[in-house]
Amino acid sequence: MSVPSSHRGRYAPSPTGRLHLGNARSALLAWLETRRAGGVFVMRIEDVDHQRSRPEFEERLLTDLRWLGLDWDEGPDVGGAYGPYRQSERDERYAAAIEALDVFPCSCSRRELREEASMGEGDEPIYPGTCAAGPRHPERPLALRWRTPAGIVEVEDRIAGTLRQDVRAEVGDILLRRRDAAWAYQLAVVVDDAAMGITDVVRGADLLMSTPRQVLLHRALDATPPRFAHVPLILGEDGHKLSKRHGAPDLSALREGGIAPERVVALLARSVGLVGPSRTMIQAQELLAEFDLSRIRPVAVDWRSLA
Ligand code: GLU
Repeated sequence: MSVPSSHRGRYAPSPTGRLHLGNARSALLAWLETRRAGGVFVMRIEDVDHQRSRPEFEERLLTDLRWLGLDWDEGPDVGGAYGPYRQSERDERYAAAIEALDVFPCSCSRRELREEASMGEGDEPIYPGTCAAGPRHPERPLALRWRTPAGIVEVEDRIAGTLRQDVRAEVGDILLRRRDAAWAYQLAVVVDDAAMGITDVVRGADLLMSTPRQVLLHRALDATPPRFAHVPLILGEDGHKLSKRHGAPDLSALREGGIAPERVVALLARSVGLVGPSRTMIQAQELLAEFDLSRIRPVAVDWRSLA
């Protein structure tokens, strides 16, 4: 086998829907950072949530990303030495990781946890330790939680700066397997980043606060955590996070609507200040020469300029 490159980056989409512009931008930036470093780019399909994942979405997102001008050296459709590249095919690895961790069964539903913490829909309640000494309802399907160690975890993010979190106090015992037997994202992402030798993660800032718990899990599994860079969320023309409300089309809709991919790349590049407002057509490749992650800053864009 050839000597592996020292830089390994990845994009790790969940095939639970179509890619929106924010997803496309994370993919583009992760690809640029890896290619600039002469590294290996890995495409990993995060389909642990078997209720929401669909093969059609996987096929569509790979087509969309290629159309945008990205390529990958390892992935579900090209193979590679660290496969399989779909999480649904990596069960044994997650089971082995669980064996190495101090876990306990938990019968609490999300709704119960939310009620106990008197929180609203969408908020993530702090796990109050309900089942730590034995499940409260052992007859129910049981989840698995990690007895998360106390102490402050410090992470140096390349864009967001220093993060500090006492994971035990602010999150509680981390969910590793759900009550429907699906592996939790937090476990699968750590096991796979470690097993695939990922050295550099570039992803959206929505995952920033998951990072301390992931670093803690890496350490507990005797793995070296990757370097992290969280890119600010894409802003609509009103300066708010771009969302469905702005009516922005998804990547497939742009491709199928006959928009040139260079226009989309240019919009994404403008939205992080990589190019000025006058650039309206760029190929992903062209951004490589001058790409510098440290120059990234959020710039509001109007997606209607694509039309
Ligand atoms: N699969 C996650 C998502 O689509 C991203 C995981 C990651 O980049 O760590 O949101």
